[in-house]
Amino acid sequence: MAPDETRPESARESREAAAERAGIAVRPEFQSGNGGGLREKVFELKGVDVLYSGVTAVKGVSMDIHRKDVTALIGPSGCGKSTLLRCFNRMNDLIPGAEVKGEILYHGENLYGSGVDPVQARKLIGMVFQKPNPFPKSIYDNVAFGPRILGRKDGLDETVENALKGAALWDEVKDRLKDNAFGLSGGQQQRLCIARCIAVQPDVILMDEPCSALDPISTGKIEDLMIELKEEFSIVIVTHNMQQAARVSDRTAFLMVELDAEEHNRWGRLVEYDETEKIFTNPADKRTEDYVSGKVG
Ligand code: ADP
Repeated sequence: MAPDETRPESARESREAAAERAGIAVRPEFQSGNGGGLREKVFELKGVDVLYSGVTAVKGVSMDIHRKDVTALIGPSGCGKSTLLRCFNRMNDLIPGAEVKGEILYHGENLYGSGVDPVQARKLIGMVFQKPNPFPKSIYDNVAFGPRILGRKDGLDETVENALKGAALWDEVKDRLKDNAFGLSGGQQQRLCIARCIAVQPDVILMDEPCSALDPISTGKIEDLMIELKEEFSIVIVTHNMQQAARVSDRTAFLMVELDAEEHNRWGRLVEYDETEKIFTNPADKRTEDYVSGKVG
């Protein structure tokens, strides 16, 4: 199947135009219509280290992220899940003192190459944060924000409607699009943030503990939404909730904190990365088994 077969033509064009704007010369074999039946790798990480002010926080991560998968990053607090997630859209660039070493390929191109514009890259690789962060604007204006920045004037109503439908929020807000977004519940605000993210038709959605501030019903809605969204987008999610990883993800990466011999320095290490079912039922590494079975936390 061609990689973009299910994606509307306009979204394909938009993704390719966005890649061009970001300075990412997506290789021909990754472009729409040239899938060749191969399972596409969206990201390839090779020996990635992340340091904060010279101190290693994540060490030696090598992994591939597959297209239209939900990939979960799990592990105890402080093992570097959020740090690693931020590597995928160069958000660590915004943290003073943060340094990313090693290689991160995005559709085969160096995401950290000198020609890549990180601001544009973040439109292709969007992020949803732990705490819903709508702008102090109307529901409509929140969703229209990204398309307007991209200079889109035509069909804005349709874009907003489609994004809200895509985020499973349309029915709840269609009669009050001009109301301030702060009037929505926490769960609705988080779906609004997802709508804002998908309104610019990204390729990848990164989610950093998107349900941790939500009640169980809202969490369930976001989880259902993730399963729907992966029809069109590749998703990488950080979660401290193992049941959530087991419910929504196709592949799971387990990270943990490693200490040096003197126990002075600590950093996050990728212990195991595999199909989610394997990680939760028959992991290869004892440390994964101990973690997923709740023996260590
Ligand atoms: P997790 O998401 O698994 O809880 P983090 O990625 O937040 O882990 O943190 C990994 C390590 O990096 C921790 O030791 C944390 O203190 C450190 N760290 C995270 N963000 C920063 C930052 N902005 N500045 C300095 N150190 C940081």
